[in-house]
Amino acid sequence: MDETPNKNPLGRLIPEKNHFLRTNLGRFNLRKFNLAEFSLNKLNLVKRKIKKIDLTRFSFSRFGLSGKKAGVISVVLLVVLVIVGIQVYNTGYDVYINGIPVGTVRSKAEAKDAIAELTQEIGAGYETGDIVVGAALDIKKVKLSDNRLTDKDVLKKNMMKNISIKRPAVTVMIGGSPVLSIMGREQAEKLLEDIKASFIPDGKGIETDRIYIKEKVELLEQAVDINKLMIYEDAYKFLLNGTTEEKVYTVKKGDSLWLISRNNNISVEDLEKANPGISPKRLQIGQKINMIVPKPFLTVVTEEIATYSEKIPFDTDYKQSSEFYKGESIITKYGKYGKKEVTARIIKENGVEVTREILEETVVEEPVTRLVALGIKPPPPRQGTGTFSYPARGRITSGFGWRWGRRHNGIDIALNSGTPVKASDGGTVKFAGNYGGYGLLVIIDHGEGYETYYGHNSKLLVKKGDKVHKGQTVALSGSTGNTTGPHLHFEVRKFGVPVNPIQYLDQ
Ligand SMILES: [Zn+2]
Repeated sequence: MDETPNKNPLGRLIPEKNHFLRTNLGRFNLRKFNLAEFSLNKLNLVKRKIKKIDLTRFSFSRFGLSGKKAGVISVVLLVVLVIVGIQVYNTGYDVYINGIPVGTVRSKAEAKDAIAELTQEIGAGYETGDIVVGAALDIKKVKLSDNRLTDKDVLKKNMMKNISIKRPAVTVMIGGSPVLSIMGREQAEKLLEDIKASFIPDGKGIETDRIYIKEKVELLEQAVDINKLMIYEDAYKFLLNGTTEEKVYTVKKGDSLWLISRNNNISVEDLEKANPGISPKRLQIGQKINMIVPKPFLTVVTEEIATYSEKIPFDTDYKQSSEFYKGESIITKYGKYGKKEVTARIIKENGVEVTREILEETVVEEPVTRLVALGIKPPPPRQGTGTFSYPARGRITSGFGWRWGRRHNGIDIALNSGTPVKASDGGTVKFAGNYGGYGLLVIIDHGEGYETYYGHNSKLLVKKGDKVHKGQTVALSGSTGNTTGPHLHFEVRKFGVPVNPIQYLDQ
């Protein structure tokens, strides 16, 4: 019989070579016993029995028995028949499938019938394709010491458990090792193509140049046990993840990656591997987290040509300036990123970048250098001098006192956002932070009951407790808090009572 199952054009059941009886019969077939077949000189067994019944005078001769001796023989035969009869009653067959005992029957035919029925039943379930039933049947004659015959249904059930059913399939070999088997070459090829396709990078300006599997992949056509065949979906998951198992965790209230790691016995590192791009600080309730670290059987390499724009960082120039006190560093011009168009060849393995070769770069916009002034002016003592100077130069847009039915506790100086706001006198920072309608506010205590307030800033450069000297830049102006536009709100207070700053400002 041809062992290649594919070559059967009828799609019918093909038993394996060793499918049918390989019986281990005794020296003769007791079931078929009858006198006519009985040949004394061939039966040592009978001789033994005869000896046992102590017929010592009996002597064998194949031919030419004397009349007297013939009489003796008929007596002996009778005895033998009785013995053989008992033996028939006590004889059965142990049945083995593929070397595994599956039961005991009275006759060989029962075993043969059972396997034949089973084979037919199995065949009926696979009408669409060839299958190969692997069932090496062994029958061994045994004495039945007790009544231990196996019921036919039980026998078939036991047989079924040990029968191997194979179908012609395609085994995907990766790097020379079988990884999985799937029905049909077409499906196997689709599987590999789909896996490759799943790594095709997409996005604007990306062109896939090449895509291939790094390992040597072969498709081997062979008969495979049906229990080892994978359906397409499982095969896909198996190749990519190393398992068909799926385990997903749903984020609950109060969860952190660390808690999930501890409660599920998986390291935080593995969780991050299993969930690329996960942000441990931004877990959301209901978010699904993959709990299985993929261990792919293959490496899909993609080579893409990507065109993208990239920021060009700016430089910073530091310049000494006598406008600011020593220790102050003030940005006098903000830097700005430049822009360039880049074309690169990017090689990824299973979606993870391994190399990037820049092919071309074009500057679209030059970066703007940031300028920082480093103060060199010797600072005055960090305490109140008793006189106050303007915190910044600008048009006074609102004076002190009652205005539109409300008391204005200071003066407003119109300033562009980002203008340095300087301490009106030396002292200690009493407050630096956000304060209601004042926005970002600095309060400096100058001693002798005097305090100055600087409101609506965009940035604070001091903190509570800092000692500042007169003229030190403490903030950059802005329009935080309750304002209609960028300006500095400046107050002078004496023992907590706002006074008109104009009367205290000396320059
Ligand atoms: Zn004001």
